[in-house]
Amino acid sequence: MPAAAALPVAFTGEVLVPGSPGYDEARAVWNGAVDRRPAYVVRCADPQDVRAAVTVARRLGLPIGVRGGGHSAAGHAVPDGGLMIDLSRMAGVVVDPPARTAQVQGGALLGAMDAATQPFGLATTAGIVSHTGIGGLALGGGVGWLARQLGLLCDNVVGFEVVTAAGELVRASADEHPDLFWALRGGGGNFGVVTRFDVALHDVGTQALSAEVDLRAADGFGALQEWLGGAVDAPRPATFHAEVLAGGPLTLGFVWVGPPDAADPLVARLDALGTPLTRRVEPLSYLDLQRRFDLPTAHGRRRYAKSHLVAELPDAALTAFLAHADAEIGAASLMTYGGAIADVDPAATAFPHRGARFEYDAGAAWDDPADDERHVGTCRALAAGLGPWSTGVYVNAVAESEDAEVRRAYGSSYARLRAVKSQWDPDNVFALNANIPPA
Ligand SMILES: Cc1cc2nc3c(=O)[nH]c(=O)nc-3n(C[C@H](O)[C@H](O)[C@H](O)COP(=O)(O)OP(=O)(O)OC[C@H]3O[C@@H](n4cnc5c(N)ncnc54)[C@H](O)[C@@H]3O)c2cc1C
Repeated sequence: MPAAAALPVAFTGEVLVPGSPGYDEARAVWNGAVDRRPAYVVRCADPQDVRAAVTVARRLGLPIGVRGGGHSAAGHAVPDGGLMIDLSRMAGVVVDPPARTAQVQGGALLGAMDAATQPFGLATTAGIVSHTGIGGLALGGGVGWLARQLGLLCDNVVGFEVVTAAGELVRASADEHPDLFWALRGGGGNFGVVTRFDVALHDVGTQALSAEVDLRAADGFGALQEWLGGAVDAPRPATFHAEVLAGGPLTLGFVWVGPPDAADPLVARLDALGTPLTRRVEPLSYLDLQRRFDLPTAHGRRRYAKSHLVAELPDAALTAFLAHADAEIGAASLMTYGGAIADVDPAATAFPHRGARFEYDAGAAWDDPADDERHVGTCRALAAGLGPWSTGVYVNAVAESEDAEVRRAYGSSYARLRAVKSQWDPDNVFALNANIPPA
C-alpha cells in the first residue's frame, strides 16, 4: 500500500515520491556526497502528522529517517528506500520574553531561533552556523559561542514534546518522564521525533566581538602553546579557538559575546603573542556572528570531518595539530570547552564529556567524487595524530557509525542510554543516527 494512501485523511502535510516535483531537493542534505533515495518524503505540518508518519512507516516496515536541518555529515536524515520525516515545515519559534523561554519547533534552524530571540536581547546557546538544525544539534548537545557562559543547548532545554516509536505524543521534562528527558539531552535522535523544544533564554544582549591574528604556522608553536594555555580559564564570555589551514597560516583568536570593550584585556593578550601577518578585531552583532560562517559552510559540497574531544594538549599534540599546515588539503580547528559546560554533573544529562577542555575537528570539502579517498584519508591520518589524547568524541561529530566510535561518543552514559532505549524504542525504529541498540 503506498504511504500516501495509508496516511490518515486528517494528514495536513505533503508526500513526495521519486519523480514528484521537489523530490530531489527534499532528499538533498548538507553533505553533497550523500545520495540516497527515500521511497517517501513525508513533509509534516504538525505533531499529528508526525504521529501518522511514524505509524505508517512501521505498518509498511520502512526504515525511518528524521530530517531537521540536514546537517548530519553521515546523512542520517535520509533513509534509502525508507520514509523520511521531513520537519522543514515545522520550523517556527515563539518567544515569551517575560518568561525567558522559547518554544522551538523540531525542524527549526538556529538562525530562526536567534532571529526570534535577539530583538529582545535574549539568546541561548546555539551552534556557530545559522543553517544548522536545532533538532540534531540540541539532541546531541549543542556547542556554540555561548556554551562557556550558559552551558550546552541541551542544558537549556527545559521540556521536549516527542512522538515516540509507539506513535504517541508525550512530554519529557524534569517532572514528566525524567528518564526520557535525561536521554534526549545528549542521546541524539534515538528516542523519538521531537516536535517541540522548550528552551530557556538569557539576557545576553546583542553585541559580540571577534579577534583573530594570523601567524606563520612554521613558527607558531610558542604562540599556540601560550594562547591555548590560558583558554579554559579565560573569562566565560570568551571562547578561544585556533585554526590551521593546509598550506596556510595559523589563526589564533577568540569570540566574545557581550559588550566588546570588556574584551580589551584579551585583545591585548592576543596582540602580545607577536607580530602577526594579519590582525582582525571586529565588533559585530550577535546575529552577524552567528551567520559569519554560513557561506563557507553552505550546503552541497562533498564533506568529511573527524573529531576528538581532548582534556590536555601537551607539546606533541600541538605539533600534531600544526601538521595540518604541511598537508595538501583540509583544515583543522580547536575550540575551547570548560566554563558552564563543565559546571554540569557528567551524569545529569546524557552528554558525558564535561571534562573535555577542547574540541578538535579536522575537515575537508571538495567537489569531485574521484577525490573522495584522498580527502577522507588525509583527514583520518592527520586526526590520528591527536588520537593519543582523545578522551571521546562529540556525538554530533561522529564520522564513522561503527560501534566503537558510537560508544566513545556516549561514554559513561552508554549503559543507561541502552536501558532508556529499550523502554522507549525496543524495536529500534529510530535507528538512523549514532545508534544505541536496545539493551
Ligand atoms: C556546517 C555545520 C556546522 C556545525 N556547527 C555546529 C556547532 O557549532 N555546534 C554543534 O554542536 N554542532 C555543530 N554541527 C554539528 C551538528 O550539530 C550536527 O550535524 C547535527 O546533527 C545537525 O542537526 P540537523 O538537524 O541539522 O541535522 P539532520 O541531518 O537533519 O539530523 C541529524 C540527526 O538528528 C536527528 N534529528 C534531527 N532533528 C530531529 C528531531 N526534531 N527529532 C528527532 N531527531 C532529529 C536526525 O534523525 C539525525 O539522526 C555543525 C554541523 C555542520 C554541518
